[in-house]
Amino acid sequence: MNKNSSNTMALAPNTSNKRETVCIFGTGDFGRALGYKLIQSGYPVVYGSRSTQTSSLIPKDAEVLSHAEAAQKAAIIVIAIQRQHYNFLTSLAEILRGKILVDISNNVKINQYPESNAEYLAQLLPGAKVVKGFNTVSAWALQSGTLDASRQVFVCGDDMEAKQMVMDIVRALGLTPLDQGSLLAAQEIENYPLQLFPMWKFPILLSLGLTTFFFFYCLVRDVIYTYVYENKDFSFFIAISIPNQICPILALMLLALVYLPGLFAAIIQLYRGTKYSRFPDWLDKWMLCRKQLGLVALAFASLHVLYTLVIPIRSFVRWRISSQTVSQALKNKTEPLDNTNAWLSDSYLALGILGFFLFVLLGITSLPSVSNNVNWREFRFVQSKLGYLTLILCTAHTLVYGGNRFLSPSSYRWYLPSAYILSLIVPCIVLVVKFVLVIPCLDKPLTRIRQGWERKPKYSG
Ligand code: NAP
Repeated sequence: MNKNSSNTMALAPNTSNKRETVCIFGTGDFGRALGYKLIQSGYPVVYGSRSTQTSSLIPKDAEVLSHAEAAQKAAIIVIAIQRQHYNFLTSLAEILRGKILVDISNNVKINQYPESNAEYLAQLLPGAKVVKGFNTVSAWALQSGTLDASRQVFVCGDDMEAKQMVMDIVRALGLTPLDQGSLLAAQEIENYPLQLFPMWKFPILLSLGLTTFFFFYCLVRDVIYTYVYENKDFSFFIAISIPNQICPILALMLLALVYLPGLFAAIIQLYRGTKYSRFPDWLDKWMLCRKQLGLVALAFASLHVLYTLVIPIRSFVRWRISSQTVSQALKNKTEPLDNTNAWLSDSYLALGILGFFLFVLLGITSLPSVSNNVNWREFRFVQSKLGYLTLILCTAHTLVYGGNRFLSPSSYRWYLPSAYILSLIVPCIVLVVKFVLVIPCLDKPLTRIRQGWERKPKYSG
């Protein structure tokens, strides 16, 4: 074996148009899928396998050799084998010296091992240049070409040149490499595929909790109370009336919760007199999932619109209108139009329509395809100024909905106020605090702090 020739090959830049051979250890699902994709992109592929017998599943233009033979044919070797089988690689240490080993492995649990699989591979083969990559791409997506949702390939490694060569392959396959730094980042990259919607967890759990709470709250007030005191069975409210109370409540509360962490951050910065110190962890996490909170709020607002549209065709509503008409006919007296009520109801509908329109606009601008086309100032303008305007309109919509019934003692049932009153607490707090913060004597120092004018904190130790 000519050790030197294979080692020089490892770092020789590719000057010709001909692609360099890529070796893949392992003819399993991922090894085969990657092999197909590499061959399609013009790379000669050689497999290193325990069995050199080729099968119909293996790409027909690829060679299947023993691990040692295959490794000598390429500078880059993709290790498409589970971590628990890495031990046998130590017997190939000499052949693998100087080669670029691409660790694509995943685990079944987050932080399953003390060190990442890539770092473990680097410890087993200190002479090789280990690069982490491809682990967030599934074999199925690679082979079927349905990579729209996962075109990004996170890459990390200690050797810049080796990392660059792997990123070139990633690009040649039509994917987008994202350099995550040194091999220390491998643990985090290995955890990505095991995470289940991390940014959505808090908004979804919160909305589930609030939905459950408000469902039982409305059930007690609107169904059980009426049954106990008026002996009326309004259990059918569960289908439309109660959901149509819960949806706007959640939309409004979650929208307010999008803006609340920004206010906490402003208060903390004002108190500390600097922006150069970290926010508490809970606040950081909350700030990071504001977009998801806003989108869940928009989903509830859209449901509210749909539920509202069916109100005129509900049999309960048609029955109530016809019985009012009949009762007027029997009394032979037409109720005069209540102008105040007409104003209230039209204003509340108008505020709702405008609020929902801006809500949708906010949702649209948070889509990556739209937000990528506006600059940072425009994005902030839409998300902050239009966002607050949406919150003001939606809060006003709820306040006017209450109208003259708002806080009237007769609307209490078992001392419980109407659910929409509870939904106003957080938005009103947010709007009042925001109003206080835009007063010049607070806004000016806050702007200075945010522009980095104020002192940096002294770090001890
Ligand atoms: P797989 O279908 O089970 O294939 C694993 C391959 O490893 C086998 O085909 C075998 O190849 C080789 N192997 C098994 N036991 C071995 C041993 N004791 N010694 C040496 N080689 C052994 O698994 P896979 O789905 O392709 O996954 C391979 C790696 O890719 C894993 O680390 C996985 O985490 C990672 N990955 C997979 C996917 C995916 O969608 N499947 C996505 C991202 C990352 P030979 O028979 O040819 O020797």
